Amino acid sequence: MAVIEKALLIGGGIGGLVAARALRQRGIAVDLIEREPRWTVYGVGIIQPNNALRALDRVGLAQRCLEQGGAFGGWRIHDANGNVLLDPPGDNSAAPHLPSNNGITRPRLHDILIRGAEEVGTDIRLGTTAISFRDDGSGVDVTFSDGSVRRYDLVVGYDGVFSETRRMLFGDTYKPRFNGQGVWRYNFERTEDVDTGQVYFGPETKVGLVPMSPTLMYMFIVTAEADSRWYDGPTAAEEMRSRLNGYAGPIARLSQLITDPAGVVYRPMMNHLVDDPWYRGRILLAGDAAHSTTPHLAQGAAMAIEDAVLLGELLGGAESLDAALAEFMRRRFSRVKYVVDTCDQLVEWELEEWRGVHNPDADQGGLLHRATHALMAEY
Ligand SMILES: Cc1cc2nc3c(=O)[nH]c(=O)nc-3n(C[C@H](O)[C@H](O)[C@H](O)COP(=O)(O)OP(=O)(O)OC[C@H]3O[C@@H](n4cnc5c(N)ncnc54)[C@H](O)[C@@H]3O)c2cc1C
Repeated sequence: MAVIEKALLIGGGIGGLVAARALRQRGIAVDLIEREPRWTVYGVGIIQPNNALRALDRVGLAQRCLEQGGAFGGWRIHDANGNVLLDPPGDNSAAPHLPSNNGITRPRLHDILIRGAEEVGTDIRLGTTAISFRDDGSGVDVTFSDGSVRRYDLVVGYDGVFSETRRMLFGDTYKPRFNGQGVWRYNFERTEDVDTGQVYFGPETKVGLVPMSPTLMYMFIVTAEADSRWYDGPTAAEEMRSRLNGYAGPIARLSQLITDPAGVVYRPMMNHLVDDPWYRGRILLAGDAAHSTTPHLAQGAAMAIEDAVLLGELLGGAESLDAALAEFMRRRFSRVKYVVDTCDQLVEWELEEWRGVHNPDADQGGLLHRATHALMAEY
């Protein structure tokens, strides 16, 4: 029997929706609130490495993602002209019955996760936030933005990188910081040569092509940016194309097709890590609310999903809520810190290289390879 009866999940993003399913599968009643009045998910894609697929498989969602996505093996590495430098196999040692990677559009993933939460009986309320918490040690009374009050055994803040739940628990101690890079993304019809994930190293940027279905793919460009401003106006396509100067071959050809400013999705890169423990009393942070990182290992959502699935397992099997939360931190903190620190290191080396600084210790390829393999270990 589960150690709690009723939980509130704050945030209907990737992590919150997977957590809803994971907790419901353990017999826990789940309310999920989402701030937006309707589901709004931007249109580009996301990479699900093998360890993310393993976690999704444990709640019965991996096959649905594979059916709606574009599975692929490893990452083929190129120079800026399109010459192949390396073509290593992918790593699927976490779940050998599943592919190394799956690319999927974010709207399709969200549809799968919403259905996955609804079909097991999650009570979802859109356009709702939590205004205040009163934790008396045996439960939490939550006042909602519609004025209603409900009591829960556990509250989980899955409300993203700018989490209000985090601010309510820890004040401004953990503000995400801009790390000097931005990521630009754009969807294309999938071309025949994109039969696996592809990365192109330019002199001052890095470009990737990610399959998302048999007919769709997206491009990402990782760039050095002076500040954390957002680009989403009428000049966004022009700005994105200008980041591709210096590439020839396939990337230069695709660059000509970046014409719709509304299709450009840009994000300045932020990261933060809340110290252990991520909870106060009966209120826990998880996913991007507790830890955000750059996409260098494609592990942000993967970590949010692992948080969710493990939380369900522990609440379903531990001796007490205290024991479940302590074990959760024991198994999550060092793993997530490893991801955040590794991404920080990769960012630092990339920025040095793009500035023309020679660092004899820099070994992006080696670190990426080791980290990808390390994350296949059990979480
Ligand atoms: C450029 C970029 C590329 C990325 N690529 C990858 C990738 O390839 N693979 C990967 O694994 N990860 C990737 N990530 C990371 C991934 O997107 C995040 O780690 C993941 O979305 C985190 O999930 P989450 O549920 O914790 O938060 P979110 O997905 O941000 O969801 C938070 C939800 O909470 C809601 N919310 C916010 N405040 C409130 C409130 N007060 N009350 C109620 N609801 C609220 C929001 O509306 C939102 O729906 C990438 C990130 C970026 C920026």
